[in-house]
Amino acid sequence: MLEQERASNGLDAMPVTALKGVGPRNAARLAKLGISRVQDILFHLPLRYQDRTRVVPLGSLRPGLEVVVEGAVEYAEVKLGRRRSLLVRIADGSGAIVLRFFHFSQAQQAGLTSGVRLRCFGEVRNGPASLEIIHPEYQRLNEAEPGAVEAALTPIYPTTEGIHQLSWRGMTDRALEILAEHPDALPEWLPAELRSRLRLPELVSALRYLHRPPPDAPQDQLLAGTHPAQWRLAFEELLAHQISLRRLRQEQKKTAAPALAVDGQLRRRLLESLPFALTGAQQRVVGEIAADLKQGHPMLRLVQGDVGSGKTVIAAMAALQAVEAGFQVALMAPTELLAEQHLSSFAAWLEPLGIEPLWLAGRHRGKAREQVLQAIASGAVKVVVGTHALFQEDVIFHALGLVVIDEQHRFGVHQRLAMREKGAHLGRVPHQLIMTATPIPRTLAMSAYADLDLSVVDELPPGRIPVTTVAISDSRRDEVMARVREACAQGRQAYWVCTLIEESEAVQCQAAENTANRLAENLSELRVGLVHGRMRGPEKEQVMTRFKAGDLDLLVATTVVEVGVDVPNASLMIIENPERLGLAQLHQLRGRVGRGGTDSYCVLMFHPPLSASARQRLAVMRDTNDGFLIASKDLDLRGPGEVLGTRQTGEMELRIADLVRDQDRLADVQAAAELILSRYPSHAAPLIRRWLGERQDYGAV
Ligand code: ADP
Ligand code: MG
Repeated sequence: MLEQERASNGLDAMPVTALKGVGPRNAARLAKLGISRVQDILFHLPLRYQDRTRVVPLGSLRPGLEVVVEGAVEYAEVKLGRRRSLLVRIADGSGAIVLRFFHFSQAQQAGLTSGVRLRCFGEVRNGPASLEIIHPEYQRLNEAEPGAVEAALTPIYPTTEGIHQLSWRGMTDRALEILAEHPDALPEWLPAELRSRLRLPELVSALRYLHRPPPDAPQDQLLAGTHPAQWRLAFEELLAHQISLRRLRQEQKKTAAPALAVDGQLRRRLLESLPFALTGAQQRVVGEIAADLKQGHPMLRLVQGDVGSGKTVIAAMAALQAVEAGFQVALMAPTELLAEQHLSSFAAWLEPLGIEPLWLAGRHRGKAREQVLQAIASGAVKVVVGTHALFQEDVIFHALGLVVIDEQHRFGVHQRLAMREKGAHLGRVPHQLIMTATPIPRTLAMSAYADLDLSVVDELPPGRIPVTTVAISDSRRDEVMARVREACAQGRQAYWVCTLIEESEAVQCQAAENTANRLAENLSELRVGLVHGRMRGPEKEQVMTRFKAGDLDLLVATTVVEVGVDVPNASLMIIENPERLGLAQLHQLRGRVGRGGTDSYCVLMFHPPLSASARQRLAVMRDTNDGFLIASKDLDLRGPGEVLGTRQTGEMELRIADLVRDQDRLADVQAAAELILSRYPSHAAPLIRRWLGERQDYGAV
């Protein structure tokens, strides 16, 4: 088929092999970059640009510039030295420069005689005697016609092995030509009213600009990714994701869920029995959840709250609403340790109300497992706590009304959906409550989690004293141990966290064991315990129970204590090799202390020398206890893919947009999504298809 014929079907349907010069070999290489259609070529934007649009006088060169220069050869000589090289000096009346070649042929050398005029392109650098360009691209100029310089900035594309910049230029040239002849091959889906209000250029002109910017284009802006033409594309990409997630939410809201309308006596009884009053923020969030649960449609609510903000009791309140209405509740945590912690909190709160939460672990086998499954299937058990084991094939609920997921960032949209399906019963799906301790700015959360409603627990329980944090080199280990001894002598308890990056968990656990042994020797008056990931559940549980009861002074742990452990009397935490951890993890760990209303300390015992980024992270930890602030620093340092966990789950993989860079404009994207869905609903599907491909229309899962 001819290019032209295919173009009428649209560039989204046109395979790259339709372009002249792209055969199966190159198509396979392009596929590695996720490029299979001509449209993908156009959305593959340059990283940067070279300016070959003008000839720069030799007298005005500075090191570091990439330039086109012209001049006549003064002399060419082969220099012998550490490396044999050909030096060619050219001059243009304003100045001179040396061209240096390490690889050169006889013929090449013969062509570079005195008086020959050259046009060269390359990067200027300081040479031993003068400015020089190493291995410039060059061509001989004819006296008669000096030849045109480039009309546009020269794009440099991110590439993969075997595809050269010249190929990229060829491919994009051809794609742009097709577009010039068939502008409809890439339809404009942003309504004119939106483009004019937000001053967004048209799609085709934005693409043309970015692939072939005019000579006077602002290169700084282009490099920073903030040019309006770039924003136009980023905007459309973000919009497509936003629309996809919103459609998903609309779909979900259309399905039926049990309306958990109750008079609330179980919740009242829990509140009366608690040794504390809920904070204002907790009350607000509990209210938001209660209102959702009464609806006949599934709640999909994300609760963000810093470590220690008291999310567990919020979950317990929601659970009681479901139980009172006669439904079951599943509480799911990412690790067994955390699940066990939840079980013990829930047991303490719910058993006095006559509700016994049950624990389903992956390790339950045989008869024990059958009994638990039976109790879940018959509805005898109302509250089940566990890990993802809760959603294995053979777990069948009698009437699941609510699923609570702790630490949301480890589960993606698709897992959330799978859980919903799992709990579907008589055409009704359970409500979902998702809790995370990785707080991110609201606009960002609304973009990344647009399929969820958002609640924020923006207040810590009273009496929390910020943890004083210090960073100390591990050469001062003795002092650190003395500190542990002192704290424990005052009746306090301490954590000693070993962070290792060894590939194997076995090695990690061995190292933690060694550390525990050494500490027990050095601090012989202390009772030292150990937990690590290779211990069996009951063993771990036993150590944790002893630590909680105050029968252990010092708990040595791998990072398994990261989430969920709650021992208010622990006021000191030592973190070994904190430089190996990210900010979110450090903050989570540190959140284990400072819960008892006394001065608490965190010692970051690092191993020098520190990298620049490690130093930055430790400085952030020293300077603040504010989880929102730490999350925003984390976003700056690591980018949103890592922080939101979307990289792991493969969601929100953005090609052009950048959630952090584009943060300030996300509100516009959200408003635009509403406009499209309400006034231009027919544009939604093509936008999603363009940017998310068959890959994932979340709404169609
Ligand atoms: P997180 O939000 O990190 O999951 P938790 O739910 O584990 O926090 O709560 C941390 C600690 O604070 C627990 O010991 C919990 O019982 C306690 N707590 C929760 N809410 C309050 C409150 N309003 N006043 C005092 N303590 C509270
Ligand atoms: Mg928690």
